Amino acid sequence: MSTGRDRSPASGRSPAAAIPAVERLLRDRLVKSLLARHGRAETLVVLRATLADCRAALVAGRLDRAWDVATIADRARVRLETRAAPPLRAVFNLTGTVLHTNLGRAPLAPEAVAAMAAAAGAVNLEYDLAAGERGERDDHLEPLLTELTGAEAATAVNNNAAALLLILNTLALRREVPVSRGELIEIGGAFRLPEIMARAGCRLVEVGTTNRTHARDFEQAIGPRTALLLKVHTSNYQVQGFTASVPEQALAEIAHGHGLPVVVDLGSGSLLDMAPFGLPREPTVRATLAHGADLVSFSGDKLLGAPQAGLIVGRRDLIRRIQRNPLKRALRLDKVTIAALAATLQLYRDPDRLAERLPTLRLLTRSPRELKALAQRLAPALRLRLGELAAVAIEPCLSQVGSGSLPIERLASVALVLRPGGTKRDARRRVESLAHAFRALPRPVVGRIKDGALVLDLRCLTEEDAFLAEIADLETGTLA
Ligand SMILES: *Cc1c(COP(=O)(O)O)cnc(C)c1O
Repeated sequence: MSTGRDRSPASGRSPAAAIPAVERLLRDRLVKSLLARHGRAETLVVLRATLADCRAALVAGRLDRAWDVATIADRARVRLETRAAPPLRAVFNLTGTVLHTNLGRAPLAPEAVAAMAAAAGAVNLEYDLAAGERGERDDHLEPLLTELTGAEAATAVNNNAAALLLILNTLALRREVPVSRGELIEIGGAFRLPEIMARAGCRLVEVGTTNRTHARDFEQAIGPRTALLLKVHTSNYQVQGFTASVPEQALAEIAHGHGLPVVVDLGSGSLLDMAPFGLPREPTVRATLAHGADLVSFSGDKLLGAPQAGLIVGRRDLIRRIQRNPLKRALRLDKVTIAALAATLQLYRDPDRLAERLPTLRLLTRSPRELKALAQRLAPALRLRLGELAAVAIEPCLSQVGSGSLPIERLASVALVLRPGGTKRDARRRVESLAHAFRALPRPVVGRIKDGALVLDLRCLTEEDAFLAEIADLETGTLA
């Protein structure tokens, strides 16, 4: 028997010689069905890769003799199926973060999903059906956005970072933009305001201090090269204690006194007052405009509950300049996103039913009572499946909104808390393999590890039956 060290061909015989030839494989029944399913080119690529694996294993001494035709065909089948699976997989987000950037932020409303499918083919994207001539892609969103925010005009791009880049590049190229030092934000995933400003071609003028910025700081910063005043919502943190910032109204007064526009990056930017839904107050886009902002930008996939997009609303003359910037062409939305965004915005015309119809709002407003009842229905199945491997407890927990929306606020929620048994020393390994087993499910379950337990926050679990079916597949063999 060859060992890992013995790299020479085994004495006298060459096991590699026994590797089936591709021509031989192509006559196999399973391989023929793979050819029919996956096509000739793809199947050949995978067969050759499988043969190469076999050869490498023989050379390394990890195999005594070559795989037979049936083994190679079956390995190729598994590999082909993996390659054919969509890279984006639906997961259960039980992390407790509703708008989880790494898990795709806002879940879309069924109306938005249907609109995306309907827009997949030929549509009147830039075509005026009444006139039979060219139309504008922004025409599908502008009426809705102005209606819902009270703005004169509106446009939309890929995300809020793109919105800010476009605004600054249009209005402040080679000019100065004063920003409070308390608002020089970094949002997770490489959005840093100073860097965006540099790329937009404008010069950042830092104003005030980290904790306190006053109106006079802005007054002193304004000069002949100033293009606009920028206010940025401190989405993902709060400066607390001895603080001062310049309210929008005061900032607008200063700017307008110098003939300059005020731009507000609202981050999440909700279209409705969240207080009636039992959620903390968040500045609305309408209120921000009413306070004197000339332009407001906000994300589509945060509190708004739509797909990824950056919305810009405000003064018509400024919006038209933005639309004429060649960068707008590079940052424009595709038809599928426009369809979903419009369908989501249409839901806001009926605020009374919004909490039922908009998944983001529905998830954010679920009561601990509802979640506790859900936990009680799910716990027996989990206990049955996990047996001695982990204790299953129902415990209160705190969810968060996520994506820098309402950063300090926590929402009372309920979790299934899975605590593996065993000694303290290997507790960490056990909880990690438990979390891994949940992530390895056909539809992965993503929770979070806290104090040696796997915490499954149920706030975002809406498909109860699908979850139970998934649990039945949990691979517990490796957990003991
Ligand atoms: C989230 C956020 C951004 C970035 O928005 P994206 O849509 O993720 O590009 C910019 N500014 C603020 C204040 C934010 O909260």
